[in-house]
Amino acid sequence: MTKLNIVKPSLKFKYALDPPPSKVVYLVQHHMAHKTWGIHEVHDFHKNSRGWNGIGYNWWIGFDGTIYEGRGFHYGAGVNGHNHDSFHIGYQGDFTQQQMTDAQIASGIALNAWLLGKYPSAKIVGHEELASTACPGRYFRMDELKQGLSRKGADNVKQDSEKVNVIVNGKQIKDGKLENGVTYVPLRAVGDALGAKIGWNKGTKTATLDTKV
Ligand SMILES: [Zn+2]
Repeated sequence: MTKLNIVKPSLKFKYALDPPPSKVVYLVQHHMAHKTWGIHEVHDFHKNSRGWNGIGYNWWIGFDGTIYEGRGFHYGAGVNGHNHDSFHIGYQGDFTQQQMTDAQIASGIALNAWLLGKYPSAKIVGHEELASTACPGRYFRMDELKQGLSRKGADNVKQDSEKVNVIVNGKQIKDGKLENGVTYVPLRAVGDALGAKIGWNKGTKTATLDTKV
């Protein structure tokens, strides 16, 4: 499991943030369409020039890959008509003219993977797929993001069930596996290796392993 480090900048919103959207259909990727602005400038711009509560994005990813919390899991502002069913991820830069950094794409994969873990049916889209806009720009590495996410899914499955060797009293136990840090082996195999008595009570669905003769 990826451990995400999300920085919480001290952003002052005009009023209390709204509850989360009732459903999350889309994870919308945006660029800021500005070559240098960081999260504080974007927050000021959305708040003071746009007249919003504050930064519209739920999360923000800087050039160096740092992930910041914007509105977090609260109702965001990113696409008219799709704020009730989306979370918005803003990336520093103008990807109609600038390249996205490797650190940004790596963090984008990590953040979206984490969100997909919470909202498995959500769809990864660029802003342009929901509205008429150039956002997130032609240099946004959407293919890499999607490939990275499917690879991550495959890695997780692999990690979920890894074959391991389990030896009891010098005897190799068949079918040992490791899942999320827990080793699983067939109880009967362990019992046999220990010379123990195995019992199964159908009615109460209770397995017993008894070494007392
Ligand atoms: Zn956008």
